Amino acid sequence: MSSLELYSPTDLNDALRFMEQEDRNVAVIASGTDLLPRMRRRQISPSILVDISSFAEDLRYVRESDGTIRLGALTTVTDLLESPIFYGKLSIIREAATLFGAPQVRNVATVGGNICSAASSEDLIPVFIALDAKLKLVSARGERTVLLRDFIVGKRQTTRKASEILAEVSFDPPSGHSWTAYEKLGRRNMLILAMVNEALSLTLEDDLQTIHSARVALNRVSGKIPALAAKTSDFLEGKKVVGQTIAEAQKILASELSLTSDFRGSGEYRTEVAQVYLRRLVDRCVRQIGGPS
Ligand SMILES: Cc1cc2nc3c(=O)[nH]c(=O)nc-3n(C[C@H](O)[C@H](O)[C@H](O)COP(=O)(O)OP(=O)(O)OC[C@H]3O[C@@H](n4cnc5c(N)ncnc54)[C@H](O)[C@@H]3O)c2cc1C
Repeated sequence: MSSLELYSPTDLNDALRFMEQEDRNVAVIASGTDLLPRMRRRQISPSILVDISSFAEDLRYVRESDGTIRLGALTTVTDLLESPIFYGKLSIIREAATLFGAPQVRNVATVGGNICSAASSEDLIPVFIALDAKLKLVSARGERTVLLRDFIVGKRQTTRKASEILAEVSFDPPSGHSWTAYEKLGRRNMLILAMVNEALSLTLEDDLQTIHSARVALNRVSGKIPALAAKTSDFLEGKKVVGQTIAEAQKILASELSLTSDFRGSGEYRTEVAQVYLRRLVDRCVRQIGGPS
């Protein structure tokens, strides 16, 4: 049996130094709610776990500065629910956090772990993509910022290098006549693994009839990759909020999704749900903004 070591760094710099020097198969562990079940199922077999929860307070925060919201990677889902920031135009984050797992999971599951798992069932990924979030990745060599929508490149694959830690997620709250909303379908009411989840950030022009910008994100845009539904989002821009626009957007959405079937549901069913959600999300956002009903 191969051995497994645990390294508990004293702080972020210690973790980064260790990861830079270590050439065995290292995995970062935050709360382990995604990583440990995967290890138990032998889907991954790291040699060393670097436990970043040992300096949790450094990366556990929800801050607003110069109009930008910043979340430390070790912020938990419960922290999101307890923050006074995620109301109004940002209530999408509350919606997703409320539908996330069960209280025991929410109390420990981290924002950074959700994003880095890059799984198609995650709640926060489409939400942060719809908010056009950026990620700050740090290593012993420095830091870089990437857009979340460019970070996930395949099923459970990201552009994160082995020596990097995700430190922060940031985004600017939507401005102007805008709103955000989230829908999720699972097979039960609690501990729901999403069959379809869909997030929308929508901004209307001053006339409250024309779409200024839209970002639609889903957990399985192409195959099993959470991503921006770019064609649908681009199509909506500049269009009037009328039934025909939504009907055409639904068709485009179906064409750019390649939803697969599994024991939770068929690809056809998922596609239909995604289309229904698109209409529902647009309706919800437009109603909140005060546009045509
Ligand atoms: C019972 C149960 C219910 C669940 N329900 C939901 C649900 O409803 N919705 C949902 O979205 N998810 C759900 N999950 C999945 C899981 O809880 C989430 O993905 C969670 O956010 C992962 O966070 P974590 O801190 O536990 O990450 P970990 O398991 O510690 O890590 C996950 C992955 O990210 C990497 N990683 C973690 N943090 C960092 C970092 N800062 N930098 C670099 N890499 C990092 C790890 O190496 C690992 O690959 C559920 C899990 C369980 C066990």
